[in-house]
Amino acid sequence: ELTLNVMKRWLVTADEKMQNHKEYLSELDQAIGDGDHGHNMARGFQAAVENVKENTEEDIGSLIKAAAMTLISKVGGASGPLYGTAFLKASDEWKGKDSLSQDEFTKGLEAAVEGIKTRGKAESGGKTMLDVWTPVLEYIQHHDIAASDLSAKAKESMQQTENMKAEKGRASYYGEESISHTDPGAYSSYLLFEALAEALD
Ligand code: ADP
Ligand code: MG
Ligand code: MG
Repeated sequence: ELTLNVMKRWLVTADEKMQNHKEYLSELDQAIGDGDHGHNMARGFQAAVENVKENTEEDIGSLIKAAAMTLISKVGGASGPLYGTAFLKASDEWKGKDSLSQDEFTKGLEAAVEGIKTRGKAESGGKTMLDVWTPVLEYIQHHDIAASDLSAKAKESMQQTENMKAEKGRASYYGEESISHTDPGAYSSYLLFEALAEALD
């Protein structure tokens, strides 16, 4: 069940993963970007979780909205506003709720994906975080989230960005040379959804 506590655990677990993969995410970003993605994610999620630990949020909408605002204000790179927008759009769908049915959760994720697309002017297949968010959304639309092999799906989608050519963000400046590198934002998104699967466990 997707309770307020599960959602808190999601953020806390995501933060742990961003801290543990900080160097790796930045290494990925060194190849096709400016090498700061791990630092951006680690800083943003740490700040977001400090907020969670203070624990003044009483419903899932407010919890996720607070995380969104922190990500938007603390992360300078492209990824902060994009993750922030995703969480902000989802939080609108989850306003006032202290637990979510799978349907309600899915509505939030749909809004999040739309938010990333609009904000990033991006589509799937362009080697971005969307190439994990979109397949994960499709997966959740068709599978029971609790019984699902969510992190395997996220991982497989992340791995598929390796063969894509970047169309958005700094990586797009590399053109054909962006091929055969994993997208850093896809990797951090994989970590985020792996954290969700673990939080649900
Ligand atoms: P910056 O590129 O500003 O240094 P980060 O390194 O933190 O920001 O984040 C880079 C990641 O952001 C990319 O790997 C990609 O997944 C994602 N990204 C960048 N631009 C876009 C966009 N327009 N739409 C969707 N995702 C994007
Ligand atoms: Mg970067
Ligand atoms: Mg940067």
